[in-house]
Amino acid sequence: MPQAKILIVEDETAIRDMLSFTLQAAEFEVIEASNAEQGWALLQERRPDLLILDWMLPGVSGVSLAKRIRQNDQTRSLPLILLTARGEESDQVQGFEAGADDYVIKPFSPRALVARVKALLRRKDPEGALHVDVLERGELKLDLSSHRFWAKSEEVKLGPTEFRLIHFFMSHPNRVYSRTQLLDQVWGDSVIVEERTVDVHIRRLRRLLEPVNCEDYIQTIRGAGYRFSNPY
Ligand code: CA
Repeated sequence: MPQAKILIVEDETAIRDMLSFTLQAAEFEVIEASNAEQGWALLQERRPDLLILDWMLPGVSGVSLAKRIRQNDQTRSLPLILLTARGEESDQVQGFEAGADDYVIKPFSPRALVARVKALLRRKDPEGALHVDVLERGELKLDLSSHRFWAKSEEVKLGPTEFRLIHFFMSHPNRVYSRTQLLDQVWGDSVIVEERTVDVHIRRLRRLLEPVNCEDYIQTIRGAGYRFSNPY
């Protein structure tokens, strides 16, 4: 089961540590940044599934970062919870206008925040791609518990890397991922492999999908990378 990856952008170490601890205890993968610039860089590199963003940050504010996220095609639909120390209604309105999906006022209970995170992920991911065992996209179906995969009802035997690759794509459809991002997401941080490796496995995966005419689900975006989406 893939864990949802949460990025926390918060300058106060104590709050960041507490959030990180609580979210990890709830089985989320956590990435941390202490300012907006670092947060923006991690958004590009690590592609989190949800962002918890502090309103008051040194330098570029949380609200500015939220606006930037909503203006960018790659990050536009990212679920975003704004942390705010203020209870003023005008600030909450400003937060929603900047693109926050939800906000939490400090001080907050960690358990309440985890509940908000889960609720927002469910809302943004109604098909439950991050939480379920069986994933279906178009004519493709993947069962994580039995590690099996079908295309047009035909079972297709995949190698472990191709399985992880198609699993990642089916959990993150309609978004373009660069080779570096795919390496990070599918192979993991600790493994050092060349970007060409990605092309090799994409080619293998497409070849396995060819007999059932499903290879077009994986699309090459020139100069950018690869995208999974329903070709029909
Ligand atoms: Ca702060």
